[in-house]
Amino acid sequence: MAAKKDYYKTLEIEKNATPEDIKKAYRKQVRKWHPDAYKGDDKKEAENKFKEVQEAYAVLTDPQKKAMYDKFGYVGDTASYNRQRSAQNFGGGFFDDFFGGGSGVEDIFDVFFGGSRGKSKQRTGPAPMKGGDIHASITLNLKELIEGKKVTLEYDRQVECNACHGTGAENGTSFRTCPTCNGSGNITEEHRSPFGFVTNTRVCSTCGGSGKIIENKCSKCAGKGRTKQNHKVSVTIPAGVENGSTIRLTNHGNAGLNGGQNGNLYISVKTNIPKEFVRSNNDLLFNSSVDYIEAVLGTAVDVPLPEGGTETLKIPSGTNPGQVFRLKNFGIPSVRTGKRGDIIVSIDIKISKPGRKEKKLLKEVASLRKAKIVE
Ligand SMILES: [Zn+2]
Ligand SMILES: [Zn+2]
Repeated sequence: MAAKKDYYKTLEIEKNATPEDIKKAYRKQVRKWHPDAYKGDDKKEAENKFKEVQEAYAVLTDPQKKAMYDKFGYVGDTASYNRQRSAQNFGGGFFDDFFGGGSGVEDIFDVFFGGSRGKSKQRTGPAPMKGGDIHASITLNLKELIEGKKVTLEYDRQVECNACHGTGAENGTSFRTCPTCNGSGNITEEHRSPFGFVTNTRVCSTCGGSGKIIENKCSKCAGKGRTKQNHKVSVTIPAGVENGSTIRLTNHGNAGLNGGQNGNLYISVKTNIPKEFVRSNNDLLFNSSVDYIEAVLGTAVDVPLPEGGTETLKIPSGTNPGQVFRLKNFGIPSVRTGKRGDIIVSIDIKISKPGRKEKKLLKEVASLRKAKIVE
């Protein structure tokens, strides 16, 4: 077990202290223990007390951290958290008003942190890792492609274990900071070489990069820090989407580690278009075949519509093979504008050998047209 710190005792306040009380108490303790103000002999002790006071203040003034502390008696990696908070405070605001406005703020920082202001920017815990992405695929039929489709996807994803708050340790408390790397998760070694200093950073082998040593694994997640949870998300696939497009839903993937962001959900969209149509951008190509005599004399064809039903298309007399006709606005909507493309009907012409009676009549036609007939 990590040593339980009593932040309330450190600030000499009651558990029900108001934020104003906490601030007052904090100022009082800072006056007492600040290395510049401390008059006693045990400078080391004062420095430690001052650290504790800052840590207590940082936790008790952050509603989330305070709630966690009240519940579990421990808050994440308080050491690094505290350093960040301190750096912010030293940047102005509270410290300015307490220490008389700006003057000496840098000095205080330098005295206390050994002149290494840059330290506050250094990463103090293991590197945040983005959660894994999740991939799904859905198929739209032609009608859905034209109308757009609202889909609800339901899947299991990894979320931070609520029993251990992602620490992997029983109750979120049963771990201590890795002594080898001091919680950073990696080891940086500096060697002096003939060419200057060489810095080598490697993952800490004691803790495997997590920065902590778990004493009792969380029973809910078996120490993984994450559990599976069913997740539902609704999304509208826009009308007119291209076959094979991918839709990204940010943050709907697996939970990250060490404060890393969630992964994404990627939905790959397939469109299932009936064989009689070929998609060409937002138009649908359709072939219709008519008898030659129909093409000569004029006819009408029924063209199937994407939403069902048919539309009658008039084929005028004298239509040639391959001639195309447009059924305006019966195609696929543009994803951007919603304006629909057309159905483009291309006419095939079937020619067949005439029967005896047909031949007789056709020869009459041929002579009218002065056609050259060779049998
Ligand atoms: Zn857990
Ligand atoms: Zn370590």
